[in-house]
Amino acid sequence: MRALNLYGKQDLRFEDTIKPVIENPDDVIVKVKAVGICGSDLSRYKKLGPYVEGMTFGHEFSGVVVETGAGVDGLHVGDRVAGCPTLYCGECDSCRKGELSRCEKLTVIGARHPGAYAEYVKLPAENIIPIPDEVDFDTAAMIEPSAVVVHGMYRTSLQPGGIVAVMGCGNIGLLAIQWAKIFGAKTVYAIDIDDEKLQTAREVGADVAVNPMENPAYDQVMELTNGSGVDVAVESAGSPVTSAQVFALAKKGGEVVFMGIPYADVNIERFYFEKIVRSELTVLGSWNAISSPFPGKEWESTVHFMANGQLNVKPIITHRLNLQEGPDVFDQIVNRKDTFGKVLFYPELG
Ligand SMILES: [Zn+2]
Ligand SMILES: [Zn+2]
Repeated sequence: MRALNLYGKQDLRFEDTIKPVIENPDDVIVKVKAVGICGSDLSRYKKLGPYVEGMTFGHEFSGVVVETGAGVDGLHVGDRVAGCPTLYCGECDSCRKGELSRCEKLTVIGARHPGAYAEYVKLPAENIIPIPDEVDFDTAAMIEPSAVVVHGMYRTSLQPGGIVAVMGCGNIGLLAIQWAKIFGAKTVYAIDIDDEKLQTAREVGADVAVNPMENPAYDQVMELTNGSGVDVAVESAGSPVTSAQVFALAKKGGEVVFMGIPYADVNIERFYFEKIVRSELTVLGSWNAISSPFPGKEWESTVHFMANGQLNVKPIITHRLNLQEGPDVFDQIVNRKDTFGKVLFYPELG
């Protein structure tokens, strides 16, 4: 089969690869219909390199079941599905406590196991998420990033009527805006330096677009909230600068949740750091998208709100490509030759 394999930093190859075969009784093989580029894929491609040289990359996918192991119940050839790409050990302290996203050996396909930038991918049956007819394959390929975002939202104590600021309107931020609305936020401020992204933010439900190029985000958000700040500030840009600035957006006693990873040192100016202390902020990290019972409510909720249309990922998808175009498009994205939202590949197109 054809696949995109990562050999080193900025070395992604489109090549013939061995098709997965059933080895364990709970294995399921899925023919991939759509698979998205994740922000973490870009960081690995640009800065980190592969865990295993030549590993088939990619983990956000949807498809159709083509083969199941002898022990698989309830899944059938032809079923429309998405994949939860995360694998946990089940044995470490966190796993035994049911805190699966804190597993010592947490990994996703595309890292140490073959991923989904391929015509076929294999996962254990418990990782397979059946999708209803209302959820098309493009939307289903975004179940994983949507589950990642709602995992972070569940970490907060956001309640109906709350005010939220989302710093960074890439794919994660755009999903955070929609989840904040689903959680009942009264007002969502979308913050980004890119007007095109702010436009999409408005389209998916942000109430006010804030561009810090004109005036610092802190000043604008304070003016909009009569000097009090927001209940929940979401860091979804994954930049060292916003990772410091985000502290100033929360109200006294408010919450800051980190959904982005800067992959760089974060230097926090005194003004921002003191907000944590003086405003008695709660700072929350969020990792992956799984909880107990596996794969967790994140996945059920995502499928539910995609099916009823409240979670609409269509405006976020900007590119639909053949797998063959992978090496070129990764190069373009990390070297910023164009504006990209969510990029999807269709492996069956070649
Ligand atoms: Zn992802
Ligand atoms: Zn574990």
